[in-house]
Amino acid sequence: MSVLSRPYFYDEAAAFEHVEAILWPQGPVCPACGNMGKHYKLTGVRTKPSKKNPEGIERHGLYKCAECRKQFTVRMGTIFEESHLPLHKWLQAVHLMCSSKKGISAHQLHRVLEVTYKTAWFLAHRIREAMRSGELSPMGAKGKFVEADTTYIGGKEKSKHVGKRNPKAIGGVGKQIVHTLVERGGSVRSHHVADVSGKTLGPLLFNNVDRKSALMTDTGGGYYRVGKAFARHEMVDHSKDEYVRGDAYSNTVENYFSILKRGVTGVYQNISKHHLHRYLAEFDFRYTNRAARGIDDNARAFLALSGVRGRRLTYRVSPGVSGA
Ligand SMILES: [Zn+2]
Repeated sequence: MSVLSRPYFYDEAAAFEHVEAILWPQGPVCPACGNMGKHYKLTGVRTKPSKKNPEGIERHGLYKCAECRKQFTVRMGTIFEESHLPLHKWLQAVHLMCSSKKGISAHQLHRVLEVTYKTAWFLAHRIREAMRSGELSPMGAKGKFVEADTTYIGGKEKSKHVGKRNPKAIGGVGKQIVHTLVERGGSVRSHHVADVSGKTLGPLLFNNVDRKSALMTDTGGGYYRVGKAFARHEMVDHSKDEYVRGDAYSNTVENYFSILKRGVTGVYQNISKHHLHRYLAEFDFRYTNRAARGIDDNARAFLALSGVRGRRLTYRVSPGVSGA
């Protein structure tokens, strides 16, 4: 038996049961009135006959609320409501995105799931929404280490050694700046930033990192003043080929960047700057919930599914020229 032979990956009734167990651990909840009490399970209901399906299609997971008399399914109010795709295919997509360390392209989803490219693209962006953590509590704490660093996505300068970059080429046309915070042994948070000044990085650090933490950065000017607010701030000077000085290093965040870049260049190729934050949410999600922290593919998919509610995209997005 393989993971892919689980019934919820091919059987629609089993897919509904799986998602209901995750989103309704205490039983069905009516999305219209919030009633958790009496409801009726409706079976044998079919959609209206059509040319393609003269007998209609069986409607799975359909309930009727005893309070407001409205019908509902577990898809309502979730990312799953936005497409008519069978739920078991959604579950396949979630599993693929959660188990591929570098991500999976919309082109590959389109081929594997046998859906149109456009559908695959929409699915992937909605699943990224479900992966978005929204975690507001600060990272780090007294005695904890938080590494901060920036990287450049989408330009040639990004791949150069930090000391060899042309400062005028950085952040230019086509290059996007990503700032990432990693707590050693803990979670990661990435942001798409406009520049690397203290004015930009200060609020990011103050809003996301406990000031009792030890902050580890390179000698980037944006960190200099900001770092003084933390219990400890160590800077390693990459331009002098200094990478590790005792417990002062930023190898953890650099390891994250290498995964991100292999994904971005190998899988997603060109990511439009308008969607970059969605891809960062995806990579942050997988890294934060990584195997080294005891979270396997199934547990990761469970976590992504727990986030499908209330995460509908608030505006319409469409595939860019690059497909990313
Ligand atoms: Zn109701």
